[in-house]
Amino acid sequence: MARVLITGVTGQDGVLLAEQLIARGDRVIGTTRGDPLEARSRLSAASAAVQLCELDLREPRSIDALVADILPEQIYHLAAPAQPNLAWKAPADATDGLCTVPARLLEAMLRHVPTAHLVYAGSCQVFGPDSKAPQNETTPFTPRTPYGAGKAYGALLVAAFRDGRGLHASTALLFNHESARRQADYVTTKICRAAVRIASGDRTATPLTLGATAVMRDWGHARDHMDALVRMADAASPDDYVIGTGVGRTVADFCAAAFTRVGLDWKEHVVHDPGLSRSGDVPALVADPRRAAERLGWHATTSFESLLDEMLDAARGALAVSPTPVMR
Ligand code: NDP
Repeated sequence: MARVLITGVTGQDGVLLAEQLIARGDRVIGTTRGDPLEARSRLSAASAAVQLCELDLREPRSIDALVADILPEQIYHLAAPAQPNLAWKAPADATDGLCTVPARLLEAMLRHVPTAHLVYAGSCQVFGPDSKAPQNETTPFTPRTPYGAGKAYGALLVAAFRDGRGLHASTALLFNHESARRQADYVTTKICRAAVRIASGDRTATPLTLGATAVMRDWGHARDHMDALVRMADAASPDDYVIGTGVGRTVADFCAAAFTRVGLDWKEHVVHDPGLSRSGDVPALVADPRRAAERLGWHATTSFESLLDEMLDAARGALAVSPTPVMR
């Protein structure tokens, strides 16, 4: 039974990661900025054994005290202002969360638990618009957003503590991953909810307006990606890994698949507004996950169709809509 610390445990990834670790018998302590009672409502039945700890990670001494107190054997750093577009609205705040917090965590690890294993949730947003897909561990970091720049700094810092101080610290360069837990303001959830609402015959449903429908992303299941993080933490030696399915689909492809599964033609219900395109959007972000396959034995196992069905079911639940037959 290992003692594990997960920062940001109440987010999509934190809950799914905690479920895997608890299932194998680990003791999981997780941080939240909010009221632990409210945060507990975001956990699942399978992650209910998480010990929640209310902590503002930006508070200078909070991380140090926590790490000194629980002496974790594994640390997963997931907490972050995780929405790339929001970082544009408050770049300095985002920089605090994305850069200072990992620095404090690595410093605390070096001081109190230098033999622990740490995995940092990095992002494919470190790759910029000029970067050619598929991206791998040798693709240069050329971020064009505050979020991507912060994630690039975090990954470089992890490598510095690994190579310069001998810590077992690794970065997962995570490509997009979704689940029933994806929040409402992400494009994938918006698409699924619009498809479900329109298919239910809701007369108040308006067409879905989207920006860049031609951008290509690599959408995997968050549970698979969290399995990769566990393998990285368990590995004998630390390293950085690109984690993604290796299959690229455009936003238009995602729409077509989701609407088809509820019996609709997306072109009749989706409006394209180029004005909504995001500054710094990378045309194609698709993983080349061969290193993870070769060294960790990791492969994404959930099909795109299963992921969609799970998200459409979650959309029905959120909108209290009864199931429509799935169109294969
Ligand atoms: P979520 O937004 O679902 O969860 C992140 C958690 O971090 C939140 O639950 C929140 O917990 C905490 N948090 C949010 N903002 C801050 C902040 N400013 N400072 C400290 N803590 C904060 O994100 P995911 O679970 O999807 O992502 C997990 C990690 O993986 C993030 O670091 C994200 O950047 C990274 N990632 C995710 C991708 C994806 O497709 N999901 C792709 C690439 C990278 P609370 O409010 O309880 O404190």
